Amino acid sequence: MKKVILFLTVLIVMLGLFAALEYTQEPAEFLQETAETTPTPEPTPEPAPTFDPALFSDTDCLLIVANKSHKLPDGYVPADLVRPNITCGGDCRMREPAARAAEEMFAAAAEDGVYLKISSAYRGEDYQSALYWGYVGSYGVETADTISSRPGYSDHQTGLCADFIEGDGSMNGINFNPSFEDTASGTWLREHAHEYGFIMRYPKDKQDITGYAYEPWHYRYIGVEYATAIWEKDVFYSFEEYFGVTGGDYIEEPPLG
Ligand code: ZN
Repeated sequence: MKKVILFLTVLIVMLGLFAALEYTQEPAEFLQETAETTPTPEPTPEPAPTFDPALFSDTDCLLIVANKSHKLPDGYVPADLVRPNITCGGDCRMREPAARAAEEMFAAAAEDGVYLKISSAYRGEDYQSALYWGYVGSYGVETADTISSRPGYSDHQTGLCADFIEGDGSMNGINFNPSFEDTASGTWLREHAHEYGFIMRYPKDKQDITGYAYEPWHYRYIGVEYATAIWEKDVFYSFEEYFGVTGGDYIEEPPLG
């Protein structure tokens, strides 16, 4: 019996020692764990991406720019204009990649119960010229420059953009008006157009940068990757800001009519 008691006593003492050892290791382990979970300092932000300026004057590139400080080559007509199979009120020809993306986008919107409609897409230099000089005749150069692009400077001549209107005709007066942003089409486009490679080309409060007042109806195709990157920056982030491209007002005198 004494042996049993002795044995049990030794066992209890050993267990006690073992537990004590375990305990003394805990702070070390605790420290180690703390060291691992201590947040590392924020890495310095990556510098903004820089882009080869040649991309923005290359008519083969989807990033070709037409704004008040970037004129398209004289007489430029895109070689791959096609008529997409979508609801359209006017000339809806677009460059092939934009046309195919528009077809996909219209189908996706319809699944959400939104029926998009394009008023016009491609506009040739001659058409733009007639439009611009018509405005100049009516209102003078200064006003004409605020409501119409000069020929050769229009995003519509790239064949990569489109003006959207409400499809059911109930929104007369809202089409080509900032209130278009509140329509079903305006809302859907703002939330989803980037998923199909389109961006809002003239966002709110960016006139000094883009050269144009807010146009929630005018969307421009640049491909899904860049469109998404811009949209993720801000729903009203502009092409000019993202790519570091000059915009704003005309730097040249108006052309002679
Ligand atoms: Zn437009």
